[in-house]
Amino acid sequence: MPLSIAIIGSGPAGFYTADALMRACPECEINFIERLPSPYGLIRGGVAPDHQTTKKVAKKYERTALMEHVDYYGNVELNRDVSLQEFSELYDAVVLAVGAPNDKKMTIPGSDKYGVVGSAAFVGWYNGHPDFRDLDPGLNIDTAAVIGNGNVAMDVARVLLRSPEGLAKSDVPDHVAARISASPIKDVYMYGRRGPVEAKFTNVELREIKNLNHTVPMVRAEQLPDDLGAAFGNLDSRDRRLRERNLKSLREYAAFTGEEKPKRLHFEFYASPVEILGGERVEGLRLEKTRVVDGRAEGTGETFDLACGLVVAAIGYRSDPIEGAPYDEARGIIPNKEGRVSEGLYAVGWIKRGPSGVISSNRPDGEIVAGFIHDDFPNGGGNKPGRAGLEKLLKERDVRWVSFADWQKLEAMELENAEGPAPRKKFVTIEEMLNALDG
Ligand SMILES: Cc1cc2nc3c(=O)[nH]c(=O)nc-3n(C[C@H](O)[C@H](O)[C@H](O)COP(=O)(O)OP(=O)(O)OC[C@H]3O[C@@H](n4cnc5c(N)ncnc54)[C@H](O)[C@@H]3O)c2cc1C
Repeated sequence: MPLSIAIIGSGPAGFYTADALMRACPECEINFIERLPSPYGLIRGGVAPDHQTTKKVAKKYERTALMEHVDYYGNVELNRDVSLQEFSELYDAVVLAVGAPNDKKMTIPGSDKYGVVGSAAFVGWYNGHPDFRDLDPGLNIDTAAVIGNGNVAMDVARVLLRSPEGLAKSDVPDHVAARISASPIKDVYMYGRRGPVEAKFTNVELREIKNLNHTVPMVRAEQLPDDLGAAFGNLDSRDRRLRERNLKSLREYAAFTGEEKPKRLHFEFYASPVEILGGERVEGLRLEKTRVVDGRAEGTGETFDLACGLVVAAIGYRSDPIEGAPYDEARGIIPNKEGRVSEGLYAVGWIKRGPSGVISSNRPDGEIVAGFIHDDFPNGGGNKPGRAGLEKLLKERDVRWVSFADWQKLEAMELENAEGPAPRKKFVTIEEMLNALDG
């Protein structure tokens, strides 16, 4: 019997695992289980809509999905439609690749006001993720604050400030483009708790801001150190170069007055949010000035306020516990040994390591787990029913699963419906996708 493997989640980690498995055991039967009709996880729903080149990695995943022994079951959710226990009874091996889809919550007073949103929700909204179709971030504002100093914070700030022409070239859904384009927003303040050399954003993203049609980057020269300083003496040369490049770009930005273009992105450092101000909706943000001691931000006790109508917290992601699997509450992951969770159960990607790293960081997870699965089943599969058993169960439960051929039809419609320079016009609800398939 060929080994049957369920990979739950069709983001990068799931696809790298499938790809490695196809090389390690070409006769294996691999079934992707994905809660959305559409595959590719954060490639479709996280990577910025104006970074289409990055999204092209999905073409490689498509080749894996089309392999002979690989099948896709979209619109099937673990523990809604089929439990983890049932997957373990159906398949020889189960690989959890469900990512870390939720926002790490901001817990300062006032965080529940209208106008405070997490980046997972905001990014999901502008990427047409069905979970966030009806998010109402309240963009009738002139000033927004973005908390965080990583590439996600940078994506959020840039998309908020994109011109209508810039948005038209992306695959931002129409209802989102209309809201952003109609917004009177002029200033976005991006706050980092630490300094410019500790910032996590990469230089390509930082330099991109200068080229926006309507936005000028702003930096206060007094916040920039003369050099990296002794604290960074131990960095490897690549990391050092990255930080030096960031510092160089920020120095260049410090020369702008803010008058050059109609909108501004302010890079602000050494400030930590302490309270959201206002009534029912956000009217401002109170921050405490910080200093960096031994690489960590320390409050100085001195506070200041920013008047703003929107606060986006880009402070990280987290996974929820999965019924039937162990959970490490402190780290927000499934406890595992290099990807092994328990007999026949494995984890890869963000649910295994936590929410950090780029797309390719998930590749080694897949390679390692594929090796484990290959070694753990030296005699091939047992007598588990695999795909036939899953389909029987889904039919009994009246679950309308979306095959990869169905997804290809949906994708063809998205490409065909694109207008002007847009690469595609996304379906943004599950209902729309199923209606398009079934009429
Ligand atoms: C906003 C944002 C922008 C990013 N931009 C970049 C970038 O430009 N470049 C770069 O290199 N990296 C980028 N990254 C990082 C990259 O996206 C991640 O490293 C990668 O997506 C993690 O892969 P994953 O497979 O673990 O999780 P995910 O990509 O999240 O995939 C998990 C999949 O599991 C599915 N799933 C979840 N729960 C269930 C369930 N119960 N049942 C069935 N399926 C389920 C989800 O729908 C999803 O399809 C970005 C990350 C974020 C958050």
